Amino acid sequence: MANVAFIGLGNMGGPMAANLVKAGHKVTAFDLVAASRDQAKSDGAAIAESGVAAVKGADVVITMLPAGKHVLGVWNEVLPAMSKGALIIDCSTIDVESAKQAHALAAKHGMASVDAPVSGGTGGAKGATLTFMCGGEAQAFAAAQPMLANMGKKIVHCGAGGAGQAAKICNNMILGISMIAVGEAFVLAEKLGLSHQALFDVASTSSGQCWSLTTYCPVPGPVPTSPANNDYKPGFASNLMVKDLTLAQDAANAAGAVTPLGKHAQELYKTFDASGHGGVDFSGIIQHVRSLAGK
Ligand code: NAD
Repeated sequence: MANVAFIGLGNMGGPMAANLVKAGHKVTAFDLVAASRDQAKSDGAAIAESGVAAVKGADVVITMLPAGKHVLGVWNEVLPAMSKGALIIDCSTIDVESAKQAHALAAKHGMASVDAPVSGGTGGAKGATLTFMCGGEAQAFAAAQPMLANMGKKIVHCGAGGAGQAAKICNNMILGISMIAVGEAFVLAEKLGLSHQALFDVASTSSGQCWSLTTYCPVPGPVPTSPANNDYKPGFASNLMVKDLTLAQDAANAAGAVTPLGKHAQELYKTFDASGHGGVDFSGIIQHVRSLAGK
């Protein structure tokens, strides 16, 4: 069993750290927020007074933070305090450029590093069923894999440093676009007098089939476990979708890729977010689509 330092104990990091404790690792945790530290303590982690204190003697350091600037800030602080030969893994969703910078920083300090953003949301974090998409050298990935297996089910090596973040934003761009497409289809069906169930029964077994329809259906009824049946409580909040679609647009602009539907999806989610729906599940975008008819 390993000594693990876990920094960033929010909605995702808290339960992920708890799963490492359950797996028998000695977890030393830190977060800026006292309530998150208290929760980690009651989950069985030792609490450090700072990120730097947390990483002392750790074999593996894991960060789960809001954005690239937080990751670079924390990595800058903790890398000099880490043990020689230790591994550092960032599971946050951040921009590809910051992820590459973080790998370069780690290399400068002689540490192996992996970017390993996740898919699966807070349910996946609690149930240890996350998907990890990883970037980094083969040896670093091989070292990270058994640790990530305590928190997730599927672990994919996507390529060199930053490739995990690239995979994450490409996937979430598909998700953002496809959820709007499914929402538009249900709104059109409503206007045409076609029932939700009838459209679902046809499209879920036809060429319109996709995850946004069959697992996360944005109207109540056809998929009882989808957030639409729970007043659109997240799940995956719309403000996080705005974040990921913005990362995708930034990456597209930097790389010279043209993604018109990704851009339009970002604009629609931004409008939905700005109208006070940032905390609503992203499948609630159907409400915004429906409201456009009256305008
Ligand atoms: P969160 O805001 O709940 O947690 C982030 C935590 O980082 C907070 O507790 C904050 O206090 C802490 N933090 C910030 N700066 C710190 C510092 N310098 N030192 C120590 N702690 C610090 O966010 P979350 O929902 O847990 O998401 C974390 C990351 O995972 C984000 O990058 C997010 O985009 C990504 N993600 C979230 C979800 C989701 O459904 N919530 C799904 C997939 C990916």
